[in-house]
Amino acid sequence: MINTDKCQICGRKLNVHSDPLSDDCGGDCWGCIGEMEADMDCEQTLEMVIEEYKKGFRPDWIPRPKVKFTHSKNSKFYLDATFLNPLMEPYSNQEIDVQISIWSKHKRVKSVFNDTVFTDKDGKIEQYFELPQSKRNQTPYFEVHYENKYWGFPIIDYD
Ligand SMILES: [Zn+2]
Repeated sequence: MINTDKCQICGRKLNVHSDPLSDDCGGDCWGCIGEMEADMDCEQTLEMVIEEYKKGFRPDWIPRPKVKFTHSKNSKFYLDATFLNPLMEPYSNQEIDVQISIWSKHKRVKSVFNDTVFTDKDGKIEQYFELPQSKRNQTPYFEVHYENKYWGFPIIDYD
């Protein structure tokens, strides 16, 4: 049975007057939905989430990094990732745990790169990476671990 009093994602109690993130968004809380929409570049939501962060309602929130992949020669690609803090300022000279792995059917089948890298003064990581030949049903992912957060980005430009 579905418990409709709680967020289906994080378990937060819904519609609690004293908790501004507990608004019911179709069974999920505004805390979860707001963060997802902000991650999907919904500008209006992003502004609200930043305001909620400033008011202290989202102390653990970190915006999803902006990531771009560009094809390069052979099996190389160029990664351009920008990390901003919740006030939309660059995360300069930060240690970021980065992985490039190959996934197949929701499972990591191979790790291509796994190391700690540093952002520059603009909060950027810019680097060339090499990928092995891709097989059917396999997708390379750029994965980021930062401050208890995890984000995965399919390297869809690669074939
Ligand atoms: Zn939730």
